[in-house]
Amino acid sequence: MTMTYPDFIWHNGQVKHWKDATVHVMAHGLHYGSSVFEGIRSYETPNGPKIFRLTDHLKRLYASARIYDMAIPYTLAELDKACRDVIAANNFTKAYLRPIAYRGLGGFGLSADTPVDVSVATWEMGAYLGAGVLEAGIDACVSSWQRFAPNTIPAGAKAGGNYLSGQLIAREARRLGFGEGIALASTGLLSEGAGENLFLVFEGALHTTPVSAALLNGLTRNSIITLARAAGITVVERDLPREYLYLCDELFMCGTAAEITPIRSVDGRQVGEGKAGPITRQLQDLFFGLFTGSTPDKHGWLE
Ligand code: PMP
Repeated sequence: MTMTYPDFIWHNGQVKHWKDATVHVMAHGLHYGSSVFEGIRSYETPNGPKIFRLTDHLKRLYASARIYDMAIPYTLAELDKACRDVIAANNFTKAYLRPIAYRGLGGFGLSADTPVDVSVATWEMGAYLGAGVLEAGIDACVSSWQRFAPNTIPAGAKAGGNYLSGQLIAREARRLGFGEGIALASTGLLSEGAGENLFLVFEGALHTTPVSAALLNGLTRNSIITLARAAGITVVERDLPREYLYLCDELFMCGTAAEITPIRSVDGRQVGEGKAGPITRQLQDLFFGLFTGSTPDKHGWLE
């Protein structure tokens, strides 16, 4: 596949040409998965381009680094500026941002205190799970791979190594012809998608799996919970057994990349009417309304 890359990237304190942001092959992060990162979107809005929940995403980056005892050598304000600068340098409005901090070159042992390098990339991105999926929905399957057991690899950190699990889940799903895979936790209860949180609708109420179910506490998940409660929709965070996927009225995945993607079937069983249901559509309208202006930004999420 030929890829075209953006012109500029922020790397260790400077906006550089894309090709100049290189890493040594012996960097710790490459060998041991020791990186923490974020995925953030910017949108065009009637008030100009806005980055969605930039501060909350950067706070989660520092939280992930804290879990791994990794000192990011820049302040949150510096990385905030880096995100804005790299979007401006590339002249983007609707884009995806990828800040990453990783253990660099400086020791080969697992516990080596190497320097921590930081980069912020950005690229233009449409619907993550394919064109048209926000309307039509995707076919999902339950993965044969489970997520990490408690106290093994912390699911609450957004760390590079965690995405070995995500790759197994996503690649298995694609190989079998599905749009995305849904993983169970080591308990056998529902966890989340390869890179998305899950919501099920039962009789007009939203049910989502709890942070104890080996998942990343998504900011889209949090935004949906907030918007739903304000609209008078009941939201329940609870453990859910796999078979509830086959019984719910509506089902969707959410994440910065996936936004709100309806799921029209799981393991070949149709969900609801086999298309985005009314609660899913209401939440899509509320969520995307933040960027068109039809949903007021009550929480200062548009930065
Ligand atoms: N779970 C996983 C494993 C993810 O990678 C993501 C995407 N960052 C999410 C959930 C959703 O998180 P967010 O809404 O903050 O993007």
